[in-house]
Amino acid sequence: MSGTGDIPSVTLFGCRVDRLPMEGVVIRCSEFLREDRPHYVVTADTSAIVIAQDDEPFRGIINDADLVTPDSIGVVWASKRAGSPVPERVPGVDTMERLCELAAKTGDPVYLLGAAPGVAEMAANALCQRFPGLKVSGARDGFFQPDDEPDIVRAIAESGARILFVALGIPKQEKFIARNLASTGVRLAMGVGGSFDCFAGIVKRAPTIVRNFQLEWLWRTLSNPKKWRKALTLPQFAFMVLFHHKDTEAQR
Ligand code: UDP
Repeated sequence: MSGTGDIPSVTLFGCRVDRLPMEGVVIRCSEFLREDRPHYVVTADTSAIVIAQDDEPFRGIINDADLVTPDSIGVVWASKRAGSPVPERVPGVDTMERLCELAAKTGDPVYLLGAAPGVAEMAANALCQRFPGLKVSGARDGFFQPDDEPDIVRAIAESGARILFVALGIPKQEKFIARNLASTGVRLAMGVGGSFDCFAGIVKRAPTIVRNFQLEWLWRTLSNPKKWRKALTLPQFAFMVLFHHKDTEAQR
């Protein structure tokens, strides 16, 4: 998979991030759906960039993506410090919502893979209520053995899905997509982290006022103790941005 070529981007610590606002991302994804080849989108938050420092294959997956969106306020800040600001934060959960809205209009079936048993189905039901006309070609949980992967990929392909949302957490979801994209038959795949939990109502999104202050990450960390490990990547990322910003470069 090649990079997008005509989209301005910034490279943060060896990871490409595309400088598109949400509207541009949605337009680009609608173009991907019309092109007769598979594409994948990476939503890059601070933890993704920190993990990619020690995980070269994952870094390669980010840089080869058709689109890399700035999924956290830390990434937005780092891009400003690099002198090549992304226009805004483009959260994965909002992008998934916009793509479901689009799919309800275009008729492209979506497949939801990931989260605890039953959650993908609950998320699918909630999305179908929100976007009448949305076709969900399948949904299954993300707790499976490596041996099950070929059957899962076959089920996705046989379902006729055009869009695949994978919620296995970073970097597992991106690696699943990189390994299997060609065999799934989809035109667009995207890793979406904890988004199914949000749509299913299991995890509440931060109130609008908290989101407006760009503090959703803090809200999620405080409301889910399991997020502490991920939260530890924040000071690490801040240190990288403040003291190693020479490792960033603007492109185009
Ligand atoms: N998950 C999964 N299979 C696994 C590990 C995690 O389906 O083997 C799911 C988990 O239930 C959750 C999502 O992946 O719904 C990860 O959410 P999180 O918000 O932690 O993602 P990230 O912060 O990495 O984007």
